[in-house]
Amino acid sequence: MKPIYLDYAATTPLDKKVIDSMTPFLEQEGGFGNPSSLHSFGQRAMAAIDGARIMLAKTIAANHREIIFTSGATEANNLIIRGILKSFFKNKKNSSADKQNCSITPRIIVSEIEHPSVLETVKILEKEGAIEAVYLPVDRFGVVDTAALERSLNDRTILVSVMWVNNETGAVQPIEKISKIIELFKKNEGKNYGGNYPLFHTDAVQAFNCFDLNVIKSGVDLMTLSSHKVYGPKGAGASYIKNGVEILIEPIITGGDQEYGLRSGTENVPAIVGFASAAHIAHNTYKTEFERLKKMSERFFKKIKKEFPEVEINGSDSGRSPHIINLYFPGHENLGLVMDMAGIAASSGSACSQRYEKPSHVLRAMSLDASRIKNSIRFSFGRFTEAKDIDDAIGRIIMSLNK
Ligand code: PMP
Repeated sequence: MKPIYLDYAATTPLDKKVIDSMTPFLEQEGGFGNPSSLHSFGQRAMAAIDGARIMLAKTIAANHREIIFTSGATEANNLIIRGILKSFFKNKKNSSADKQNCSITPRIIVSEIEHPSVLETVKILEKEGAIEAVYLPVDRFGVVDTAALERSLNDRTILVSVMWVNNETGAVQPIEKISKIIELFKKNEGKNYGGNYPLFHTDAVQAFNCFDLNVIKSGVDLMTLSSHKVYGPKGAGASYIKNGVEILIEPIITGGDQEYGLRSGTENVPAIVGFASAAHIAHNTYKTEFERLKKMSERFFKKIKKEFPEVEINGSDSGRSPHIINLYFPGHENLGLVMDMAGIAASSGSACSQRYEKPSHVLRAMSLDASRIKNSIRFSFGRFTEAKDIDDAIGRIIMSLNK
């Protein structure tokens, strides 16, 4: 039985054009050099990174100076959270006004549904006593409570981090609204620490294929991106850091001062080139991809509902990125196994937590009970999903559920 891949939120296959863009930088005749070298081999590699930086920046309406390439979104999220905190403490130590105020603990506000690379990082810092953390609740549709954000902002808040699209439910978060709330707070009350804080970060990893990640319109200060979710290679990602905000971030990986000193280490040239070309394609196709995947997702749900009327969506039917649908099948446990046997690659939680069989923190945050969480599964669609895949998958799902 040919497997059907419905796990695009976990990772995506490489686009052929992306492979072509990378090949020269893997070959001996091409730009395999170390970008830090001053000879022609190095300079060719450096020119490729410069080009990739410009190309990626354009897709989010940023300037190339505002892009820091990393090994992926996990590192980009760590750089932003840990880097901001490190810089905050460094500046505090140097400032005589703050010396009398050494007991101040900065506050970081995140949503309860963030990816573990944000959530666990914040929890570790909280445990270490370095920060006070506030976890914003979500409603039953998995959307962040902005009133709770308004209540949580105080003059010690240095960072707010809310993802653009949730990776388990597809719930789209009110990014522009959050930007406005923070902006207003800064104007009226955020006079502390030179008016620089709170900064607003969004993990936009799951939003790139279906949305316009315009950093100006969205009003974010910081953004995280990942290559392997947009048909690029694994091992590349980026932090967008708004012009001027870079002075509020210290590197967490130090060494040879690559990436404007914010991320040392020899750049992964072929992956960076591939990432930029993948991002370029994703940005050029996000509108049509949104519409196409919306139809796929509707077709998928409608047909399953017809055969299995008890099925329900975890989250909202609207306000959801169409590439993700999280379904509850009452009375059906071990759904992961069921799908496996039916030859369907889907996911009973986020890819990262599946192996450890932890109940989804996202569904729990939506106040879903333990049995519902156990009986739920995430399907995610992408560029190479066709109507026939959807129909075949439905047939297999219904058959295995009726067994
Ligand atoms: N954030 C989100 C929302 C994700 O879905 C993922 C991947 N599961 C990551 C961060 C981590 O990305 P990477 O694999 O590039 O570290």
